[in-house]
Amino acid sequence: MENTITDSIKITPITTSKLDKVDFDNLSFGKTFTDHMFECDFKDGVWQTPQIKPYGPLTIDPSARVFHYGQAVFEGMKAFKDDKGDVFLFRPKDNFNRINISANRLAIPSFPEQYFMEGLKQLLKIDEKWIKSGAGNSLYIRPFVIATQACVSAAEANEYKFMIICSPAQAYYVGDVSVLIAEKYSRSANGGVGYAKAAGNYAAQFYPTNLAKKEGYQQVIWTDADTHEYMEEAGTMNIFFRINDTLLTAPISDRILDGITRKSLLEIAEKEGIATEVRPIKVNEIVKAAEDGGLKEMFGAGTAAVISPIKAFGYKGNHYEIKRPEKAFASHLKKALMDIQYNLTEDPYGWRVKL
Ligand SMILES: *Cc1c(COP(=O)(O)O)cnc(C)c1O
Repeated sequence: MENTITDSIKITPITTSKLDKVDFDNLSFGKTFTDHMFECDFKDGVWQTPQIKPYGPLTIDPSARVFHYGQAVFEGMKAFKDDKGDVFLFRPKDNFNRINISANRLAIPSFPEQYFMEGLKQLLKIDEKWIKSGAGNSLYIRPFVIATQACVSAAEANEYKFMIICSPAQAYYVGDVSVLIAEKYSRSANGGVGYAKAAGNYAAQFYPTNLAKKEGYQQVIWTDADTHEYMEEAGTMNIFFRINDTLLTAPISDRILDGITRKSLLEIAEKEGIATEVRPIKVNEIVKAAEDGGLKEMFGAGTAAVISPIKAFGYKGNHYEIKRPEKAFASHLKKALMDIQYNLTEDPYGWRVKL
């Protein structure tokens, strides 16, 4: 059965939902997907009619350029349901803008805003039952673009596939982590693709992260590629420090991703009168603060976990523990942000977008 509910999106609904088979109390992150997916192909210089269809495997030519030259970018965002059953997105326009910033860096054509927003809304509506209300429950949304043109000569593709897939998620809590500050490896360089959510940025992190794991750390804190003297990102999250009562984070650049969680936390902190500093942060400054007790907190910030507290770090063979203060900025800011996301409080910033 096929029908068209808007001018531009062709919808093919599933015949039998998988919903009954899913144990929503035991979800592992990113493994379960909803009934439908959004798909739109770029061909002959234009994005074709978008489609919403049953979630399932793709058939792609083995010579598709994404497999050989890595033209792939993605986004990560969430939908939330409140107790009344209303569904909300958090700053979706920012994710839309960012996927095109990422795409453009990889010579991938921009995706039209109307297709993105309409596609997302239609997809969430058709799979609405997959979004559960209640603390920590959400729907993780993964838009992505890949180069599908069948050709192994080294050049940008002229055919692409834009997709959105959705995965129900529970509170993402892995516990406080220990991290290793990078002294050799880098995730991004000046003039590179660090500011883009490019798939390859992740591929390049796994190996150094595995080395850190062998030393008993869960994540790597990336430092600048030139000198390894400045703090840049925490694994795949932006990084924050609290020295005494000041909240610090590194400025975004072509090496540091412009995280939506990062900028939201900064705004909330400023509004609440927490002193913030956005400036280059030396590793030595953090080591010294850890030694003299000024370093009260360190945490990563990103959509999946919102805030991921760091309890210890390793640097140049030394290990530093951070004792969590009683009134942590991390838990306070995380609650403030999630209260907005779940429609539990006013949203003076205009971040919440009702479906
Ligand atoms: C996605 C991502 C972040 C976090 O961005 P959010 O918009 O807050 O989810 C931070 N750093 C890197 C490298 C990322 O890929």
